[in-house]
Amino acid sequence: DAMNPSGSPIHLEARAVSRRFEIPQDLGQRIAGWIGAGGDRRAVQAVERADLQVHRGKVLGLVGESGCGKSTLGRMLAGILPPSDGQVLLDGQPVMQPGDHRKTTARVQMIFQDPFASLDPRMRIGEAIAEGPLVHGLVTRAEAAAYVAHWLQRVGLGADIAQRFPHQFSGGQRQRIAIARALAMQPDTLICDEPVASLDVSIQAQVLNLFLQLKTELSLTMVFISHHLGVVRHLCDRVAVMYLGRIVEQAPAAGLYTQPLHPYTRALLDSVPHLDLQATSEAVVTLPVPIRGELPSPLDPPPGCHFHLRCPVAEARCREQAPAMERAGTDHRVACHRWQKSITPSGQP
Ligand code: SF4
Repeated sequence: DAMNPSGSPIHLEARAVSRRFEIPQDLGQRIAGWIGAGGDRRAVQAVERADLQVHRGKVLGLVGESGCGKSTLGRMLAGILPPSDGQVLLDGQPVMQPGDHRKTTARVQMIFQDPFASLDPRMRIGEAIAEGPLVHGLVTRAEAAAYVAHWLQRVGLGADIAQRFPHQFSGGQRQRIAIARALAMQPDTLICDEPVASLDVSIQAQVLNLFLQLKTELSLTMVFISHHLGVVRHLCDRVAVMYLGRIVEQAPAAGLYTQPLHPYTRALLDSVPHLDLQATSEAVVTLPVPIRGELPSPLDPPPGCHFHLRCPVAEARCREQAPAMERAGTDHRVACHRWQKSITPSGQP
């Protein structure tokens, strides 16, 4: 399974990656702890044994509602957050030093939802872009200005803005600056965490197009994190869907959108309005159906299949037994006790 059907080797991989976060105790719990009456420390299992493969030069979409663990998994893929268990490998090498939690490579860079958060407000744009490359010896001081100009132009900005400060730019421009800053590190892989979610709708398409263009021009491998299956549809080669810390389905994008096998993936697809082109070539607008029930607290996820409280086809064992990830077709994997029942003889769910 080292190749996908298009023949690209696995480039970035998560193997049984988990991440727990301890919840800080309040004073009462701490006092109870001192007198020996303390209960268990509370912990959130943000990511539970995630397996992911990203093929070289391809885009993987990582999708789920907020709080599902996708940003935490993204930060572990980028080598900026150590897993509690498991490993993240880039071309077979760990992206983090196991002992001291140092990132081992600049080849993976991360783009965040809020570009302002990654830019120091007191630093001129040019300094912010040149900082990392200078530290890593990718450029000399003498070359820095030309280097910065090159990357600014690459993301569609003028070289003259290098002397200005982040607050002088719009959200879309700031995200372009953040992209230039990441690319100036000459990565081969970008982890993009909701990079257009905070931008005006009119700007979102422009920035998405920029990502597509850069991916082709620079042969980048990308992980594109989004809460919206529609946003990643045209960008991604493969899609992984997460629910409360677990990956529940992973498949080539075409297969996932035409034949989703997990009830949660189907519910996510149905929760946004979409256009269906029928055989009669009439366009039919499908009205959104919200996912029933509330997203449970990640502090206290339901036992068994985490989705059973909201699943329209749950059965008794779903309440007790967590479904294992099963192979459901070429490069299509799903974790649901009933996925086979969702395929009808005609092949349509
Ligand atoms: Fe629904 Fe059960 Fe499948 Fe979970 S395992 S998605 S509850 S049918």
